[in-house]
Amino acid sequence: MVTTATTPRRRPLVAKGETPTTAMLELRDIHHSYELGAGTLPILHGVDLRVDRGEVVAIVGRSGSGKSTLLHLAGGLNAPDRGDVLLDGTSLSSMGARGRAIARRQRIGFVFQAFHLLPGLDVIENVAMPLLLNGESRQRAKERARPLLIAVGLDRRADHLPSELSGGELQRAAIARALVADPALVLADEPTGNLDSATAEDIIHLLVSRVRDAGVAMLLVTHDPSIAARADRVLTMADGQLA
Ligand code: ADP
Ligand code: MG
Repeated sequence: MVTTATTPRRRPLVAKGETPTTAMLELRDIHHSYELGAGTLPILHGVDLRVDRGEVVAIVGRSGSGKSTLLHLAGGLNAPDRGDVLLDGTSLSSMGARGRAIARRQRIGFVFQAFHLLPGLDVIENVAMPLLLNGESRQRAKERARPLLIAVGLDRRADHLPSELSGGELQRAAIARALVADPALVLADEPTGNLDSATAEDIIHLLVSRVRDAGVAMLLVTHDPSIAARADRVLTMADGQLA
């Protein structure tokens, strides 16, 4: 059973004449290519995007259009050739690799299609991992992980290994892990890509409602229009740009 509470989505209210609040994520004129043996493969040609607190933005587009590339750049896993990524108003490129790694650990939650749980750790340890990496004690980290496990309906799987879970359960664990450190931004790359459609519906409902409840900004990449329809806005990646 997945237990979720739904609340109306929050948007920053900006009075007339007031400056809008800083976006949680802002992409400014992002360009990116890959260097191949045979030459350069251009992928992104000037992507601009703002995602506010409590807002869910979906990016759709065909395979190979650059959606994952954009998500990696947004999360500071990679640096763009040109342009800038701002997290809560701070430029990632001004942070350096170490600063970006800290920002990722403390402020960003990732949910990937392939879950990426550590096979040797049980479910609660996997969920607690971001807190352990942030220097919390093992006991405290598990205490904080527990309510997240309950929220995603996995409390009774806490001491199971990932190999003992179904695909939907693995993805729920990955969602709990992405949210455990109270991130400001969640980046989800095809989070339902490995799930059957009923489970996918369940997972996306869980993810979107948890993110909205926590007032977190989310960028959600999917090729599935029915999944994208759960977002506040849907943008299409085509020819290296978002429309
Ligand atoms: P999407 O997520 O929309 O399917 P990607 O961002 O993964 O697209 O990939 C965009 C294009 O860049 C694809 O043609 C892919 O083959 C290529 N690509 C992705 N990652 C790399 C890489 N590390 N090196 C070279 N080419 C890459
Ligand atoms: Mg992809």
